[in-house]
Amino acid sequence: MRKKIVAGNWKMNLEWETAQQLFNAIQTIKVDDVQVVVFPSQPYLIPLINQNKSTVSVGSQNAYAKDFGAYTGETSFKQLKSFGVNYVLIGHSERREYFGETNQILKDKVDACLANEMTPVFCCGEPLEVRNSNEEIDFVRTQLTASLFHLSADSIKRCIIAYEPIWAIGTGLTATSDQAEAMHAAIRGFIAEKYDNATAESISILYGGSCNEKNAAELFACPNVDGGLIGGASLKYDSFKQIANSF
Ligand code: PEP
Repeated sequence: MRKKIVAGNWKMNLEWETAQQLFNAIQTIKVDDVQVVVFPSQPYLIPLINQNKSTVSVGSQNAYAKDFGAYTGETSFKQLKSFGVNYVLIGHSERREYFGETNQILKDKVDACLANEMTPVFCCGEPLEVRNSNEEIDFVRTQLTASLFHLSADSIKRCIIAYEPIWAIGTGLTATSDQAEAMHAAIRGFIAEKYDNATAESISILYGGSCNEKNAAELFACPNVDGGLIGGASLKYDSFKQIANSF
């Protein structure tokens, strides 16, 4: 059964005091049948998890695929799991672009995430030049094939996919609901082709890219859009709350 999800990616924003205030406010968001997840900066994870008294989940923006070892500056999936993290973002375009994360690295992260009983939120999406040459569907299919489609049906059912066209992230340009629905339907189709319809129907596919309180309702009304991964608008309580209420 596909879950409805609204997730806030805070990226490298907010100092500790403001982060706590925002999280306290977000804890009051409660929408029937909608899972709210927040992805704060890494050092805020433990204190926010400890002070969490709500149904909101706190997830990590990143993790390293090895369990332990001499990997200075990294935090492993195993370590995250040991203090209660259940969701991890994998493959965000900023990590692909600025930190050189390849499809193979992301595949290893997906495997480590699942091995540690956490939910990967796997991000995919095309840059503008690919969209302009009408090759976005093939581009996303390649990303999914390279990092997710080695999984068994039971394992891929434990993943969430976020379609985030790079040209829409942080730009104020949003995919139209037709563009979003076309890609989400294509992604679901690829999963059905590789696995089966029941598997495809069980996976939540979120839209991300300048999603806000004004466009969320139209996007979430698309049959294959199961929610959103929200960047900028997740830093404003009122906007994020309205987005969560947009189903
Ligand atoms: C994101 O980075 O995941 C994102 C969707 O950002 P924004 O909403 O700001 O475009």
